[in-house]
Amino acid sequence: MKIEFLGTRGEIEPKTRRHNMHTSLLLTHKGKRVMIDCGTTWLKGMKKVKPDQIILTHAHPDHAFGLKNGAPCPVWATEETWKLIDKFPIPKQNRKLIIPHKKHRICGIQFEAFPLLHSIRCPAVGYRITSGKTKLFYSPDVAWILEIEKAFQGIQFYIGDGATIVRNMIRRSKETDEIFGHATIRQQLNWCKKMKVPKMIITHCGSAIVSGEEKAQKQIAKLSRERKVDFLIACDGLKL
Ligand SMILES: [Zn+2]
Ligand SMILES: [Zn+2]
Repeated sequence: MKIEFLGTRGEIEPKTRRHNMHTSLLLTHKGKRVMIDCGTTWLKGMKKVKPDQIILTHAHPDHAFGLKNGAPCPVWATEETWKLIDKFPIPKQNRKLIIPHKKHRICGIQFEAFPLLHSIRCPAVGYRITSGKTKLFYSPDVAWILEIEKAFQGIQFYIGDGATIVRNMIRRSKETDEIFGHATIRQQLNWCKKMKVPKMIITHCGSAIVSGEEKAQKQIAKLSRERKVDFLIACDGLKL
């Protein structure tokens, strides 16, 4: 399986050549292409991507609104996400349902969705992805991963949320008491350390990274050394 970071920018104004397109991942297996998330910036540019299948994490604009004029292929999403993008002109036969904790095989790659805390209005999932010997977990927007032990079990790396390095972006709902927002990179490195995941790859970059990457790189390097968890800041076009 080949992994390409099509986009690595979060829902922020600043952009650079390294972080231009909204966060999206392309997985290629035996010539078939699975695109994870398709934000507003992808309204133009899908012709180049040519996905065979699209999978969504949640219905926020920077993850799903590239489909607001329709999709070139089948789209997979949870029931909660489908309700929120129901008005998009995607024909019924191309609407595929992701059931959390069910193992879906899409283009030969196994996807298992894990519910996350991130948004109250747009419930999100992260994906545990398995292909051959490669195991990883992908959650570009996340405040907390429910059942993190199962999600991170035996993975080689974690691709996580780069919205903030150390600034707190977690809030608590007054009505439901549920937390939402974005975990810091520092917290996510702590998760990796605790679960013995050797590496975090950072995507969905926020302004702390996009507006000053050199400084951010040094700051994260220190956090990474202290926790003995490797890291890499992904950029648009990065291939693994
Ligand atoms: Zn986002
Ligand atoms: Zn989001």
